[in-house]
Amino acid sequence: MKKLKKIAFIGLTAATVVSCKPGIKTYASYEDYPLRYGNLIEMLYTPEQTTFMVWAPTASEVGVRLYETGQGGYAYDFIKMKPGQDGTWQAEVKKDLLGKFYTFDVKVGDTWLGETPGINARAVGVNGDRGAIIDMKATNPEGWEDDIRPELLSTADMIIYELHYRDISMHKSSGITHKGKYLSLTENRTLVPSTYYTTGIDHLKELGITHVHLLPSFDYASIDEAHLEKEKYNWGYDPKNYNVPEGSYSTDPYDPYIRIREFKQMVQALHQAGIRVIMDVVYNHTYNTDDSPFERTAPGYFYRQNADGTFADASACGNEIASDRAMMRKYMIESILYWIDEYHIDGFRFDLMGIHDIKTMNEIREAVNEVDPTICMYGEGWAARAPQYPAKKLAMKGYASQMPGIAVFSDELRDAVRGPVMKDKKGGFLTGVSGNEESIKFGIAGAVYHPQVDYSKVIYTDSAWAAQPTQMISYASSHDDLCLVDRLKSTMPAITAEELIRLDKLAQTTVFTSQGIPFIFAGEEVMRDKKGVHNSYKSSDQINAIDWRNKETYNDVYEYYRGLIRLRKNHPAFRMGDADLIRKHLEFLPVTQKNVVAFQLKDYANGDSWENIIVILNSSKKSVKVDIPKGTYVPVCYDGKIDESNLKQVSGTSITVPKQSAMIIRQ
Ligand code: CA
Repeated sequence: MKKLKKIAFIGLTAATVVSCKPGIKTYASYEDYPLRYGNLIEMLYTPEQTTFMVWAPTASEVGVRLYETGQGGYAYDFIKMKPGQDGTWQAEVKKDLLGKFYTFDVKVGDTWLGETPGINARAVGVNGDRGAIIDMKATNPEGWEDDIRPELLSTADMIIYELHYRDISMHKSSGITHKGKYLSLTENRTLVPSTYYTTGIDHLKELGITHVHLLPSFDYASIDEAHLEKEKYNWGYDPKNYNVPEGSYSTDPYDPYIRIREFKQMVQALHQAGIRVIMDVVYNHTYNTDDSPFERTAPGYFYRQNADGTFADASACGNEIASDRAMMRKYMIESILYWIDEYHIDGFRFDLMGIHDIKTMNEIREAVNEVDPTICMYGEGWAARAPQYPAKKLAMKGYASQMPGIAVFSDELRDAVRGPVMKDKKGGFLTGVSGNEESIKFGIAGAVYHPQVDYSKVIYTDSAWAAQPTQMISYASSHDDLCLVDRLKSTMPAITAEELIRLDKLAQTTVFTSQGIPFIFAGEEVMRDKKGVHNSYKSSDQINAIDWRNKETYNDVYEYYRGLIRLRKNHPAFRMGDADLIRKHLEFLPVTQKNVVAFQLKDYANGDSWENIIVILNSSKKSVKVDIPKGTYVPVCYDGKIDESNLKQVSGTSITVPKQSAMIIRQ
């Protein structure tokens, strides 16, 4: 805790000073803290007056400082706040404060905790240190009132593309002018030098994905917004202000309007392109602990503690949020609803969701359902360390069935395909390591119970944890760990260029024929690599930026990814979205060889136009002959090519699948 620095009080007037009764408030436990009813707005501006309200139930004094600028200089006014109801403090300033900045300062006992923009700032100056008083309506881009969510009939139809603004735009081959900015996703058809290929938003349209998943885009702490001239890269898992966009992705982090307007422009452009927008939200921890807005308003309350009173740390980042405490739960619900309402966000990915409690996640889901049940929610069903909360009440993967409408990432499928997490040199199914077949089957079935899966042979779980397949995110790689190309090179040092392509295609065929929700990491479709860097969270652009010339070099791979997406969109059998339908229509075929998984989607599954579809995934280094139900079939995916309109036919009771490839045939 820091002592208050002496500051100059300029222009302090009697009219703005409200006397308050000092005193220490203590409570037997955090559960006894008074709850603030109504919304948690901390600053309400009108031209006639601005009202400040902050929840600080243990405070003996609270004040607001007013500034002319977002950083530097002295406060020109200090307003003492008056204790209000339910642990709140309030002050009204009957002046037009438009364009000013503010901080709260809370005193507990004899200690001033230090300045903070509060826990709920909605506009801030550079680096998010001071709240900004702005007219939110003026941040709306033209036509914002007409912005609508692109249609989504079912969450089973989702195809997620995870991206970082710098990854997609920093390489010169991107042709994007707003490099590393929100506006990179507003640029229309851009041409890669020397080719005719699109990048940016038109690339996403061309690829056919339905959702972009933005890496953290709320205001985070680890990039100095005042010094963007230095090359700086960070994934952004360092929350500072949860309800304001990050400044470094705007063209001017000093102007509080710009980051908000440009973020909205991005959402608007994506919506116009028919793409929904998912935010990565990181409520599980804050970047700072002692100096965080939470700790500077209600010390201790928003974080879990160890038995000895120290901060618990299930995030491995220094703290863990107490989502189970009433005001934190309320805060998370309001924050999510705010991003939906103000920024038209269409979905949320919860970082280390296993730190949060099931009750909170379900309450968020219910609140979101009231707005629009097609707004998606998914998260990491794990924590970095064991949280300080009863294990059975945590939103861990194994309890997904208790959280309807919330999906979790399947590490079973991911690691069965590419090899175990954190062990970069250990391979999986792709590498030809046998024993992963049941885990692949587990993932193909969308993590719902299927009588043909032997759960005793599935990695990381001994049962089906999803009630519905839309509760499973199906993926082979994400921003974390080695990307797919690097992983293949790491696990198969002697891999040939041809083999790399074959296995890359096989990996994503597994993902896209899974009944879970498919998810790809940006650039995988053009064989992006990260030069073997495992944890590139703050690596340079040289490591992280996608070289879009790959779109030409690996055009065959790119077209294959497009083909997989098209196939899934055209054929509802691949996205049944219902556990009973899966048990009825998905049948695994008996195979005698290792490193082969074969299954049939039969009897016009989910109203498909194809009667029967057989998928065979073969990661062995030789071609295999697999028994199939006797009949005449049309191959639509064969030896690295996808062609739905193929007319050639094959007949028989078995079929030969080339080495390290997927085959899809249909009737
Ligand atoms: Ca920031």
